Amino acid sequence: MTKTTKEKAEKKIKALREKIREHEYKYFVLDDPSISDAEFDQLMQKLIKLEEEFPDLITEDSPTQRVGGEVLDEFEKVEHSSTMLSLDNAFDAGDLRDFDQRVQKNLSGEDYQYVVEHKIDGLSAVMRYRNGSFELGATRGNGEVGEDITKNMKTIRSLPLKIDEEAELELRGEIYLAKSDFQRLNEERLENDQDTFANPRNAAAGSVRQLDSKIAAQRSLSILIYDLISHSAREFETHLEVFSYLKELGFKVNWHQSAADIEAVIEICEHWQEDRESLDFEIDGLVIKINNLSLREKLGSTARSPRWAIAYKFPAQQKTTVIKDIEISLGRTGALTPTAILEPVELAGSTVSRATLHNEDEIKRKDIRIGDTVLVQKAGDIIPEVVKVIKEERDGSEKVFEMPDQCPVCGGEVIRPEGEAVTRCTNISCPAQRKESILHFVSRDAMNIDGVGPALIEQLLENNLIEDYADLYFLKQSHLKDLDRMGEKSSQNVIEAVEASKDRDFFRVLYALGIRHVGIGAARILAANFNSIDELQEASAEELEAIDEIGPVIAESIVGFFKERHNRDLLSRLKQAGIRLQKEEEEKEKFLEGLKFVFTGSLNNYSRSEVKDLVEKAGGRSVSSVSSKTDYLVAGDNPGSKYDQAQELGIEILTEAEFKNLIEEKSSTEK
Ligand code: AMP
Ligand code: ZN
Repeated sequence: MTKTTKEKAEKKIKALREKIREHEYKYFVLDDPSISDAEFDQLMQKLIKLEEEFPDLITEDSPTQRVGGEVLDEFEKVEHSSTMLSLDNAFDAGDLRDFDQRVQKNLSGEDYQYVVEHKIDGLSAVMRYRNGSFELGATRGNGEVGEDITKNMKTIRSLPLKIDEEAELELRGEIYLAKSDFQRLNEERLENDQDTFANPRNAAAGSVRQLDSKIAAQRSLSILIYDLISHSAREFETHLEVFSYLKELGFKVNWHQSAADIEAVIEICEHWQEDRESLDFEIDGLVIKINNLSLREKLGSTARSPRWAIAYKFPAQQKTTVIKDIEISLGRTGALTPTAILEPVELAGSTVSRATLHNEDEIKRKDIRIGDTVLVQKAGDIIPEVVKVIKEERDGSEKVFEMPDQCPVCGGEVIRPEGEAVTRCTNISCPAQRKESILHFVSRDAMNIDGVGPALIEQLLENNLIEDYADLYFLKQSHLKDLDRMGEKSSQNVIEAVEASKDRDFFRVLYALGIRHVGIGAARILAANFNSIDELQEASAEELEAIDEIGPVIAESIVGFFKERHNRDLLSRLKQAGIRLQKEEEEKEKFLEGLKFVFTGSLNNYSRSEVKDLVEKAGGRSVSSVSSKTDYLVAGDNPGSKYDQAQELGIEILTEAEFKNLIEEKSSTEK
């Protein structure tokens, strides 16, 4: 083939792609198509044909790449550049006003405005763009690590694969299925004798997690963008500015409205509570955010959620049904939780057959009896609960429920401590709670002990080979190999996996202990502030609360944990086993301890997440904007306005080479 035909084709392909992108934008982002579906299909067919003829001209961001293709074995893991936090909840105007009070107090007199957005009931996703192309899409996962769903996200027609911006950006948004698309999908499934999805959210979740992107492509997923996490070349002052910037780039941005004060916010919330049905997608509330981005920095976050935002949750939907029975289930902390077994009902799109009754007091307060007709609702749209008893429906056959005085699992004594609502099993070797706490201990983010799963733990407990997780370290192969499905090889593997876990980082050990309210994020923070478990054990609640991200609930739970005799015994056995209960020497040598770094411009030798890791490993922090508290600004090529700000504030500016020296010299001399 001659060079000119190929050149011609290249030109044609380019023109077609541009045209298709424009129509995709009009159709899927603006909801305002200017050509018919048939005409659109024709353009697409032309492009597909040309690309088939010249396959080396196919690019990843071509509109033809949306249809899906190869089937994956599994999703790759993606570490998030910054933790994806949850949001605190408000359930009424009072909660919103309380939130506003806290903001006011923390900003000590500074002026602020709010932006209110829809809280879409879908799945959050993060997206990275580089050199003008959509490069990576990932799920939230556990907040720290998500899954790479780039292939499935490419099928979302409202998400541009190409943008007019060369810089590196990271965005967040919510993937969802429109109500109309959900209905169509379920109708199709009914016709094909397939199970229907309970609600749009479940359907979207199922589609996002399809290993075959061709299936995802048929599901018509949508996305709305609500945040810009980082931009390698530009700074923004406000959230509203970010929205108009993203809109200009061709993104479908989330609905938003600014509000001068909390009363205006409340009005907007009330409006949407009435009007939510008018939308073609489900919202479960609104999200209220501080508009000014530097004020957000100032407010910061707790280990769980930002202090500059809150979710206003709509009151849940309600239905009546009958309580057939009340069962007791046992949690990891030994709490006896009464659960109502319900005559199944449809509620907010899913079938509900159990509802939590929380505790004894709740049952008494609401006078709930077995056989009662009750009003149930989904609280925060997750766990169903009983709102009230419809007493007029009683016929006298209802039975009053009594909390058992023995643990339903182990028969051990139960107690209800003074002033507490919760009844707990006191038997420290109660299998129900043991099993849960051991499962947590061996889980992936904790000690990551492969091969020790629920079935094995049950056997170990039943055969009295262990009583708690510390005992795992004293198991011998001879104990294991006669157990069900164990044998020589797998028992050897278990012993090795247990042994290998002795090397886990200190913060993971802290998390593994299963201290109530101490999640992985809080564990990290504790490890950054205490060198050893002994130091932590000596800390008072006040000392703990003095740490920025640790609140009173976590502090009290930590102090309580160390008070319990059984837990102290457990720790001493972990120590004896050789678990890392302090930081490694090298972990302590944090030569950048307490120093704050800001990066601007593009770096040649590192990605943004690499520099962040390097700084954090050495005890420093990488923050996104320059303030008087910044210690170093590292400037790459084409630095943004952060450079000027740093100069103005007299902050030390490093070139990339100087930064490299700092990291490499220090880490080698200190070894
Ligand atoms: P929650 O999981 O209830 O703590 O709420 C946090 C989640 O709300 C996030 O992970 C997002 O998936 C979701 N979300 C929906 N709409 C928004 C929005 N406009 N802004 C922030 N988060 C949102
Ligand atoms: Zn028990």
